[in-house]
Amino acid sequence: MFQAVKFVPARSNEAPTGCLTNVPKGKVPCPRCGKPAKSVPEKTPAHLLTEKAKTQTADLSGFYFCKTPACNVVYFRGDKVFEQKDVSVTVGCKKGAAPATVCYCFGWTKEKIAEQLERTGKTDALDDIRAKMKDPGCSCVTLNPSGSCCLGDVAAVIITAPGNYLHH
Ligand SMILES: [Zn+2]
Repeated sequence: MFQAVKFVPARSNEAPTGCLTNVPKGKVPCPRCGKPAKSVPEKTPAHLLTEKAKTQTADLSGFYFCKTPACNVVYFRGDKVFEQKDVSVTVGCKKGAAPATVCYCFGWTKEKIAEQLERTGKTDALDDIRAKMKDPGCSCVTLNPSGSCCLGDVAAVIITAPGNYLHH
């Protein structure tokens, strides 16, 4: 029987030329919880790891951020793992984090959003963050442990907040 053979181009593992960020693409499973984790720019652990933690590795590129609440891994690269104790800010998405910061650039926490929702039935978190992203601008890469924009996380916090009586 005839079988069609699909042509599959050879893939290179090398980063495309001109890539300045040195951030691996795609998600990699966390070595402890097994959930897919996103890569972070080198700048993120460089800013957020404690000085002591930074002495453990000369190269801070190629790390991934685990956002699983119950997992104590914050950053990993292969077998190298950094936990909350190695990070200079409280990682808001982790279980028991206080304050549970979601927007590090403009100081929005789960507590503040829940309080607004409980008191007024709504929150201006997203409008406030969007306005400030335009002016003065945000610094998620260096302030947010995930190294990326917080808007999706903030929206998730609003939708799941106990004081949210709005139906989305
Ligand atoms: Zn994990």
